[in-house]
Amino acid sequence: MNRVVRLTSTIYTPDQLSLPDAPQIALAGRSNVGKSSLINALAGTKKLAKVSGTPGKTRSINLYHVSPAGYYLVDLPGYGYARCSKQERQSWASLIDAYISKATSLCAVAMLIDCRHSPQLLDLELGSYLRQIGMPILVVLTKADQCKQAERAKRQREWTEILGEIQRPVPFSARTGQGREELWQALDSAVGS
Ligand code: GDP
Repeated sequence: MNRVVRLTSTIYTPDQLSLPDAPQIALAGRSNVGKSSLINALAGTKKLAKVSGTPGKTRSINLYHVSPAGYYLVDLPGYGYARCSKQERQSWASLIDAYISKATSLCAVAMLIDCRHSPQLLDLELGSYLRQIGMPILVVLTKADQCKQAERAKRQREWTEILGEIQRPVPFSARTGQGREELWQALDSAVGS
């Protein structure tokens, strides 16, 4: 199916949060996990989301409208960037908290995990928080081109063990396009379309 992905708003502070009623799927992950590249790969362009060689640059929430399905992908600021100040970390956390508490049409959170790394503390904390609030989780293993098949399979097993009966983690590579259609289908089914 041909999908068109369009940036509709960029939110920097909790008071700017005015959200559409349409279904939403949030994208969360450590900074540098490949979130911007994934959005561009899904959209089939190099220019929609800003890919950065320097971690910790995305400080806003960006809403992308997906047509014709009519739902939104919500790009949350990357977490876990060690070199940012405590104040910056707090303002990110309050923005994300404000989003989660306001987003009544949030259907699922796609957790982006670098396929080369075993589960890390901040990812585990996010996973357990989302389970606590009963939020469906879709795990996406990014940079799959950097992992051998056996390593990808190991990550898939690890995450399935941690999160229980979730949908099979989707291996994805922005570089090769691997997993693009599978991810679109998982996103569509998360919003029930
Ligand atoms: P973000 O901070 O999560 O938005 O990550 P970016 O999309 O800006 O990517 C961070 C770095 O990882 C950049 O140098 C990208 O070129 C690289 N990267 C992103 N996706 C892939 C991928 O699928 N494969 C490989 N090999 N590198 C990737």
